[in-house]
Amino acid sequence: MTAQTPPAAPALKIPPAAQSGPGFNAETATRAYLAMQTPAQKARSDAYFEGGYWLMLWDFLYGAAISILLLATGLSRRMREVSERMVRRKPLSTWLYWAQLSIALFVLGFPLSAYEGFFRERQYGLMNQTFAAWFVDQSKGLALSVVLAGLMVMALFRIVRRLPNSWHLWAAVVTIVFLLISIVISPVFIAPMFNKYTLLTDERIREPILRLARQNGIEANAVYQVDFSRQSNRVSANVSGLFGTERITLNDNLLNRCSPQAILGVMGHEMGHYILHHGIKFMAFMTIIALLFFTLLRRGLDWSLARWGTRWGIRDVGDPAVLPLAILILSILFLLGTPLFNNLSRMDEYEADIFGLNTARQPDGEAEADVLLGEYRKLDPTPLEEFLFYDHPSGRTRIYAAMRWKAENQCLGNAVNPCPR
Ligand SMILES: [Zn+2]
Repeated sequence: MTAQTPPAAPALKIPPAAQSGPGFNAETATRAYLAMQTPAQKARSDAYFEGGYWLMLWDFLYGAAISILLLATGLSRRMREVSERMVRRKPLSTWLYWAQLSIALFVLGFPLSAYEGFFRERQYGLMNQTFAAWFVDQSKGLALSVVLAGLMVMALFRIVRRLPNSWHLWAAVVTIVFLLISIVISPVFIAPMFNKYTLLTDERIREPILRLARQNGIEANAVYQVDFSRQSNRVSANVSGLFGTERITLNDNLLNRCSPQAILGVMGHEMGHYILHHGIKFMAFMTIIALLFFTLLRRGLDWSLARWGTRWGIRDVGDPAVLPLAILILSILFLLGTPLFNNLSRMDEYEADIFGLNTARQPDGEAEADVLLGEYRKLDPTPLEEFLFYDHPSGRTRIYAAMRWKAENQCLGNAVNPCPR
């Protein structure tokens, strides 16, 4: 049934010190896998990832400066005046303000986003796109923001104007509903705007994955692949969608660069997210965060408008011109919340790792994938770095978990002393 026969998959390479045998030791095996990265590769990956810690700060400061600029120069107020002059109806003029603001943020933020998203990626050898192709993707993102986020902004301002005393609670509810809708439609409508998704047809890869799915009670008959190499040579896979649009997608870099064992290891991890209901847990967590952040946002807005509202020409919280201030306050909250978000994500990722090891039974495949992920995620950070900045366990943590599993399952593949059943 396959249209063309793809080249044979790369073979699994196990370093000598990680081979099964009477002397197997999880720590030694972990070090052997970490040493597969050459010193030059390690230096590059560490520099790339550590630079990312600083970029979080620069992103925040740069974004804060843009917000303050829009407010203090009266630009925000003028954009609202323009939108009110063009259309009389409140919801439409709110949307028109949002469209102007989106474009202003895109243009003013462009120097940093181009450095971060394109030039820096290219400098570290992670970018496969031309600047023009990258720019087209960014413009699609802007168009999506103007339309989809625009609908949400219109709904939120309607709530603020209608329910002046309890808007923060209803705004949280509406935000969660929009988040849910975007997760549900993303694999079907949004992701295909940027990449081509096709059914995985190579039976040698697909059949073991479907067996793994069936053994876990996942009623999948299709696995998707995506031409992610269009943008980057990063290896990755994910579970996306919710309420019937769920799907598992492997990117073509993973398919081209990993052994069949590593692909199965990664698939076991992704199925873990699905079986352990990480999507629903994430939504529950985000509901709490939305309630908390909107409550704090309301206080922050009231406090700031009492001080500078007149000077900035903002009438009240129901005036769209207040948006740069709202964005600034939310960006402070998200920056402060980063370690919390990272820890919750990392806990789920670790759970999925353990699930994947137990179901796919491919510790060396998992370790191989972890070393490849080390191309863009520092493999061996300090515990404090991992705690603050990692939304996935570090390569070291993941490889050690795999080797610890392997140490207890030395009987796997052993014809003389097979595993007891
Ligand atoms: Zn994951």
